[in-house]
Amino acid sequence: MRKKLAAGNWKMNGTEAQLAEVDSLIASHPDPKVDLLLCPPATLIERMARRVGTAQIAVGGQDCHAAVSGAHTGDVSAEMLRDAGARHVILGHSERRADHGETDACIRAKAETALAHDLIVVICVGETEAQRDAGDTLDVIRTQLAGSIPDGVTGAQLVVAYEPVWAIGTGRTPTLDQIAEVHDAIRAALTERLGAAQADTIRLLYGGSVKPGNAAEIFAVSNVDGALVGGASLKAADFSGIIAAL
Ligand code: 13P
Repeated sequence: MRKKLAAGNWKMNGTEAQLAEVDSLIASHPDPKVDLLLCPPATLIERMARRVGTAQIAVGGQDCHAAVSGAHTGDVSAEMLRDAGARHVILGHSERRADHGETDACIRAKAETALAHDLIVVICVGETEAQRDAGDTLDVIRTQLAGSIPDGVTGAQLVVAYEPVWAIGTGRTPTLDQIAEVHDAIRAALTERLGAAQADTIRLLYGGSVKPGNAAEIFAVSNVDGALVGGASLKAADFSGIIAAL
């Protein structure tokens, strides 16, 4: 069956001192039963990868450019992430969609480049509160999946994160039934697109205000294979509590 995955997205947080949390995490999970992934800001990827050493924590980026290289001031390429020690990259986070106007087509182009550079892509989807209130959640999610996932991707190359925009950093979460409904719909859409053999191996993460206190009930939901954690991934003690619930 699918191995559970606890992923931390540090967003635009952390300098050298923050890497002490990695040491604490390794100390509390020397032999983790679940897969662990930390996505620090680009400036910390290489230092984090060195700090992790042979411990069982993968390091990932939070975005990459769709182009392989070139005149794109301030951007980071998939090849650079790989070179710095990343093995995964988050793409299409709602903060990228909102702050940088990223569209599904743009996310798909980034994913194609990332896959070509041997990165596992963590593609994020999620509805706004207005879309949920309008009853459009499943349509929004299906459209985002159809537009952002490249053709021919294998189960080993893809993780999908469901992150309702209104649940990110707000302390609010969907009901367990709402999470189940969306995760079941994502699995069905992936099965239709990629076939059951691939779709059944893809980890589906829930993200949005996951904390040690609510992790166990969320992880018990159908088709939830782990979490993409923001704020609570910054403190090893909180992230450990979430890992322990998996
Ligand atoms: P929070 O866990 O801080 O709500 O953030 C979730 C998120 O956006 C992870 O990518």
